[in-house]
Amino acid sequence: MQYRRLGRTNLTISTIGYGGLPLFFEPPDKAIQAIHTALNEGINYYDLDEAGNQFSPEKVYRDGGEKIGAVLKERRDDCYLGVKSMRQTYEELKEDVDLALERIVKGTKREVIDIFQLAFLDTPQKMEIVLSHNGGLRALEEAREEGKINHILGAAHNPRTMIQIITSGKFDIVEFPFNIIENEYTRKVIPLAKQHDIGTVVMKPLGGGQLASVADYSLRWILGHEITCVIPGMRSEEEVRENAALGTTLTPLDTKEYEELEKVGEQIGKEYCHRCGYCLPCTQGIFILGVMDFLKSPLLSREKKRMAYKDIVARKMTSPASSCIECGECVARCPFDLPIPQLMTQAAAMLEKE
Ligand code: SF4
Ligand code: SF4
Repeated sequence: MQYRRLGRTNLTISTIGYGGLPLFFEPPDKAIQAIHTALNEGINYYDLDEAGNQFSPEKVYRDGGEKIGAVLKERRDDCYLGVKSMRQTYEELKEDVDLALERIVKGTKREVIDIFQLAFLDTPQKMEIVLSHNGGLRALEEAREEGKINHILGAAHNPRTMIQIITSGKFDIVEFPFNIIENEYTRKVIPLAKQHDIGTVVMKPLGGGQLASVADYSLRWILGHEITCVIPGMRSEEEVRENAALGTTLTPLDTKEYEELEKVGEQIGKEYCHRCGYCLPCTQGIFILGVMDFLKSPLLSREKKRMAYKDIVARKMTSPASSCIECGECVARCPFDLPIPQLMTQAAAMLEKE
């Protein structure tokens, strides 16, 4: 495995990290086995993701505690842990840090969260809240002073807020989606992070699973850029070994391989939502990017998608896709010219019809 310096944190982390989302859907024994394999292969960064549980203080970090938490009890020195919070206020972040400590790292050799993430900093409004006196960042700064966490990471899907995160000077590391389709980060974000000596973690390297047919090429293309680490989601020991090998050889793409990756990217790109949020707010309250994720992601079965979708509609995190009145306001704002009303119709058919 090859390692790189994670910006000013001075941590040395593996070029391939572990994107933990798929393990949320696996039973603990299988998940634990996959994590052990990753650590054996030299992967030393685990990025926890618990899907919808992230929004619920009763459930959050319990699944992580059963899986990565169990591994860390034996192998704390082999792994840096990244934990995220989807919430935003001072009180919420204070609570999440304490829950993560209690549920994941308590009883391990090093009872500290290596990297704590403020996730989904996708809109200027959320940035304003997080950076304000009553915002979550202050809670993380205090937690760092108290030795509960070591480093603060800002994650977003939007290059515009990503620039704000970097230039705020408050974050040690950033995490953003980057792949052949979402390649706008090469222009400003990656060079700016380097200039500020901020570590860069790449999420969604396979476009939420849509680039799975060219996974090898996609990861190699990303690793050819000046980023620190890429965190593909991995479900099985086999996937872990395949990806770890790519982080060991770091073989650049040849022209033919690049052309094939580009071709697949172009096909998918026509209906690919970059989750940048420029289309919001929807006049009917649809959380357009969230609905798009359910529509396009191949990672979950249709049944699981329907269950998760019903849950976020019930929690009023989005209006149903079927409430789209085709007003077109979002289309005018989408920089990628996506046919949003048609996609909402498709989503309603997939997620709402029995
Ligand atoms: S076209 Fe549909 S999704 Fe777009 S803003 Fe109007 S109601 Fe919302
Ligand atoms: S629909 Fe367009 S504007 Fe909205 S999040 Fe997706 S890519 Fe961005």
